[in-house]
Amino acid sequence: MPIYEYECKSCKTKLEVWQKITEEPLKICQGCGGELIKLISESGFILKGTGWYVTDYARKEKKENKKEKEES
Ligand SMILES: [Zn+2]
Repeated sequence: MPIYEYECKSCKTKLEVWQKITEEPLKICQGCGGELIKLISESGFILKGTGWYVTDYARKEKKENKKEKEES
């Protein structure tokens, strides 16, 4: 499930929301009732098209896990 990031136009609150692709985007800030703008998330999971970020991230994780095991 991708993470969608929103910013409120009025109070500048940023929200990160896990939503299904089929779910309606949020439009109203729950804090002040202002208008929410949908931001492009920096999460690698959304960059399915490019793929390199996800792959690189996964590789890094694996390497770090291995390192931890060796040290302990
Ligand atoms: Zn707001």
